[in-house]
Amino acid sequence: MTELLRGLGASPGAATGPAYRLADPPRLPAPRPVTDPDAEVDRAFAAIDAVRRDISARAEAADEPTTTEILRAQAALAGDRTLRDGIAMAVRSGHEAPHAVATVLAEHRSALLAAGGLLAARAVDLDDLRDRVVAACLGLPMPALPRPGHPFVLVAVDLAPADAALLDPSEVLAVLTSAGSYVSHTAILARARGVPTVVACSGALDIADGTAVKVDGTTGRVTVRPREPYPATAASRSPELAMDVRGATRDGHPVALLANIGSAAELAGVCVEGVGLFRTELLFQHHLDPPGVAEQVAAYAAVFGAMAGRQVVIRTLDAGSDKPLPFLREDQEPNPALGIRGLRVARRREDILRTQIAAIAEAARSSTAKVAVMAPMVTTVAEAAQFAALCRDAGLPTVGVMVEVPAAAVRAREFLQAVDFLSVGTNDLSQYTFAADRRSGELADLLDPWQPALLSLVALCAAAGQAVGRPVGVCGEAATDPDFAVVLAGLGVTSLSMSPAAIPAVGAALAARTFDECRAAAAGALAGADPAAARAAARRR
Ligand code: PEP
Ligand code: MG
Repeated sequence: MTELLRGLGASPGAATGPAYRLADPPRLPAPRPVTDPDAEVDRAFAAIDAVRRDISARAEAADEPTTTEILRAQAALAGDRTLRDGIAMAVRSGHEAPHAVATVLAEHRSALLAAGGLLAARAVDLDDLRDRVVAACLGLPMPALPRPGHPFVLVAVDLAPADAALLDPSEVLAVLTSAGSYVSHTAILARARGVPTVVACSGALDIADGTAVKVDGTTGRVTVRPREPYPATAASRSPELAMDVRGATRDGHPVALLANIGSAAELAGVCVEGVGLFRTELLFQHHLDPPGVAEQVAAYAAVFGAMAGRQVVIRTLDAGSDKPLPFLREDQEPNPALGIRGLRVARRREDILRTQIAAIAEAARSSTAKVAVMAPMVTTVAEAAQFAALCRDAGLPTVGVMVEVPAAAVRAREFLQAVDFLSVGTNDLSQYTFAADRRSGELADLLDPWQPALLSLVALCAAAGQAVGRPVGVCGEAATDPDFAVVLAGLGVTSLSMSPAAIPAVGAALAARTFDECRAAAAGALAGADPAAARAAARRR
């Protein structure tokens, strides 16, 4: 029977295929007394060196810079002096080489988990290092991806960088993990390789090998034993990367179709009208301190350079809550989603915001891209005005804010007196409108973008934009649903920003309708009593 699971969409696109689970890690043998400690230390070091060489070789062989960077970091970990000293000490205190390795790496792992956030997300890197070194100590093959002999959906607790780096998109149709997050290495590497991925999906490990599963990395939905048949080839993965699609209705009403990205690497091979949401968090996440101006300028300039002459909306750091950053964890908040996150981080660390704005302005000065800057999690007009003043003083004339809380949506018109544009973030707007954690599979019905209350708030924003003649876009994942995109266009939304992979289908849906048909679909959806009725009414029109 078909079963629906939910996780977090971490790499866009969808694919269906038979599930195969990553092999279990090597088991430690029963401990034996150490008779020759020096030989045992040599055995442990030889194993670590072999693993370090193996990971370094993969880093250099990787065809993609993010992968190289992540694997180099893991190789450096394997060469870490304190790690080796700890292992030598553990051997001399009576542990055999594989046990010494496992004990010392477990201590490092606990330290990372205690630090929380992004550092905790790196625990999987240490687990992988342990499994590899233990396997090398025991003379076993290194842990490897399954090889069923045909394309498949890879299921795992989480993927280590060394595994994720080996993902061959022609073999691995999609990835499904029970752990992980949007910022875990699984997600970053899968996005870089264009493999649809859903992470944090409870129930993933219960799927038996060989069971058909559909993984939708755009919506986070996982269908076990889907009804529709599937050709299990890489070609069945859909949709393809965006080609040069210009957003407009059949009768020429323009609705810009823009890309959501986290780095310049995601624009490789993609041709889009512009970038509607450049999430800058990825740049900050590998750091124990905020990145300096030069590093930021280089990262922003790479995106602006790739989008020469086109629009780029860059968002200032959106840290906190579901996007924790190591250097911001000064205290544990009881309820991080309602705490210091997004623009509010500037209450404590205005220096980070000022540095970022200065870096954006510097990168924009030497680029022909039409750079606009926007702030996340803005709740009052005063915050918006303050942010706009900071940006304009730095020489960035086009400033907007995201609408992610109902407080901003209901005062959209007043916000548009302080800033040049609004961008509705439906992911967070759903979360805060329905008081439902955006990561919760159990509350997925409340997070359905077709919920009438969400539609009403988006309609308020779009109407405010039309009234004052300023752009109002949508950059949440809801824009990836072609039917919903038609409704958004009909509400008067001026741009839709989404994972590049979703653009062709949305472009096709818009191109098939006149603007009046979009408006009728919007009116039908707004009149719906619940998500199902809204969806049905929009389709009927
Ligand atoms: C949103 O909240 O809809 C959004 C686009 O921002 P993020 O998903 O990065 O929070
Ligand atoms: Mg958001």
